[in-house]
Formats: sequence, C-alpha cells, structure tokens
Amino acid sequence: MRSLIPQSYEASRERFRSSLARIALRWPSSRMEVHLIREGERDLSIDVLHAPATGQAQHMLVVTTGEHGIEGFVGSAVMELAMSEVLPALDPEATSLCLVHAINPWGMKHEQRTNAANVDLNRNFVMSWDSGERVNDGYRSLRSTFQPQGPMPSVRWNRLLLTGKMMSLAAAGKSGMLRQALLAGQYEEQAGLYYGGTEWQPETQVMRHLVDDCLKAAPHLVHVDLHTGYGPRNRMSVVNSELDPVPSTQWMKRIDYQNVVATTPLEFYRMEGDMIDYIYRKHAISTPTTPMYATCFEFGCLGDSLLAQIDSLWCAVANNRLRQHGAVSEDIADEVRRLWREAYCPSEPSWEEHAHSNALRAFRGILHDQGLIS
Ligand SMILES: [Zn+2]
Repeated sequence: MRSLIPQSYEASRERFRSSLARIALRWPSSRMEVHLIREGERDLSIDVLHAPATGQAQHMLVVTTGEHGIEGFVGSAVMELAMSEVLPALDPEATSLCLVHAINPWGMKHEQRTNAANVDLNRNFVMSWDSGERVNDGYRSLRSTFQPQGPMPSVRWNRLLLTGKMMSLAAAGKSGMLRQALLAGQYEEQAGLYYGGTEWQPETQVMRHLVDDCLKAAPHLVHVDLHTGYGPRNRMSVVNSELDPVPSTQWMKRIDYQNVVATTPLEFYRMEGDMIDYIYRKHAISTPTTPMYATCFEFGCLGDSLLAQIDSLWCAVANNRLRQHGAVSEDIADEVRRLWREAYCPSEPSWEEHAHSNALRAFRGILHDQGLIS
C-alpha cells in the first residue's frame, strides 16, 4: 500500500489545493477559499474546498482535518483517500461538499496539537465567554504533575517517574478522575495542557462562520471531523457528541461499524468547547427542524491499555515541557519529538493500512445511513 501521509504541512496543503481540478470534474462550480490566520502570513492558511451541488442541494457533506495540528497528517491522508474512494459514489446533483484542510495550520506546521497561543481549539468552541468562571479543580490539584518546571531532564527516567505516579493513582481508583481532570479542558493555565483560551481564536472564528454557512446551504448536514490519538491502537473510533440523541449501540447497527462511542464520561470523556457540540447547539438554534449528523473519527495510536494511556499522558506532558522550557540536550529534545509524533501519527505502515480500511468502512456506513449513497 502506498502511504498517503504527507511529509510536511506545505506538501499536504499543495496536494489538497491541487485536488480542486479533480473535484471540479464532477462539481464544476468548485472553488478554493484560502483563510489566512493572520493578515500577511501567507504561509499559514485554512484552505476550504467548496463544491456546490449541480442541482438543488439536498445534502451538505463536510469533512474537516487538523483541528489538532499534528493530527492533520493522518487527516490529510484520510481526506485524500475519501476523495479517491468515497466521493465518486456521491451524486453531485444532490450533494454539496465542504472540505477543510488544517483547521490549525500553525499546529500542523510545527507538529503541535494546539495553536500558536497554545490553545486547544477543540476546547475553544464555547457558546459564550461570559457565562461565569470555568474552573477545573482536578487539573488544579494535579498542576505540578501536568506542568513540571525546568528543561526536560531525561526521557527514560522521566517516563518511569510519571508511570510510577500514575500507577499509584490508578491503584487508588483515581484513573477516571485523572482522565476527566486532564481531558475536559482548562481555562486558567495558558502554558498548560488542554488550555481552552479566554476568547475565540482566529481559527475558531473561521470555522464558526463556515459552520453557519454550511447549516444554511442544504436541508441536511453530515459532518466528519478527523482526529488521531485516543482509543485502541489500529482501530478507529466513531466518537459522537453527547448531544446526539441516538445511543451508540444503535449507531453501531445503523452504520454497520463496531466501535462507536459518545463523549460521555462513561464511554469516552466529556469536554468543554468541543467543535462538534458547537455544531449541534448552533443547529438547534438556527435550523432545528432539519436533520443533521456530525461526528469525529478518532484513530487510536498508542492504544488504550493503562500503560498506553500513561504513555500518552507522558508524551503530552513532555512535549509541553519541551515547548515551554526546552530540554537539557538536543538528543533528549529529538527523542521527545519522535515519541510525540508516534502518539499522533504512527510510522508503522500496517497502522496506516488499518486506518484506511476503518475509515472507508465508517464513511460508507454513515453516507449510506444518511442517504448520500445507495
Ligand atoms: Zn484531536
């Protein structure tokens, strides 16, 4: 199998831009919109391919990548796969497309999850910033573990140290608390992990406008947002919003895909400021009577055993420490970067094969269930 994972943000964007000609063969009014994150910075952009239906649009299919920068490499590969294997089955007369390359281009270019201001964009889609204080007590109590000070001193010893701490928390039955403290998002520590910011980021603003436009463009919205990281290795999880009314077990039957979870503490984890939740809330306000389905594909990288989850936490802590405080040597910095990349874009060829087959199966199941393909 030929790898579709691009070598760089620039190569990925170039390939995406050049796909316009291919899409335009069936959607002749296709156009590419380029949104600069900051005025004058032409090397960082959110690229949006709009392909309006050739007749009266019945459906709008949205596919988005790279909300978490570094996850955009696999996102780009799966987008390319969808263009060649999934989109040809759609009816251009009835279906419009909106394809987004790199919601977080700075993060993709610099291989980070967050943007230049260290904001996790998937904690930044809050509905309003004046609805009181957002306090995450769990994060506060574990702050010194999540944000150790000083340059990264080692890899192996540092990993063992964190593993020891986490195993004792697990033995005390506190794994769930730890997960929720970390992944729910926090709004106080700008240099911390899963920081949601204090205002909408430029990238979030672009997406908010785009979501509004897409909800109005057709009477039925289907949105797939591509992520990597959590869940069992070699298996992609379809992660639904807790605001979707249909239970995960029913979705598994409907789309003929075995690994569907919802963002509840029991099945996955709950978070603030999630983009898919934002789409559900916006839909309930602006177009509540039309059908919609928005979800994430989450490609598991390190795995979901306790040790794999600890490793994934270590990668997040170590990468953030490197970004905030540097490392005592360039070798240690390189090793942290390599392990971090493996946590979001595994280099093993068979991993990508699984990712492709899972993605194709779920795409087909969803588009069939939603009436976009027969
Ligand atoms: Zn993600």
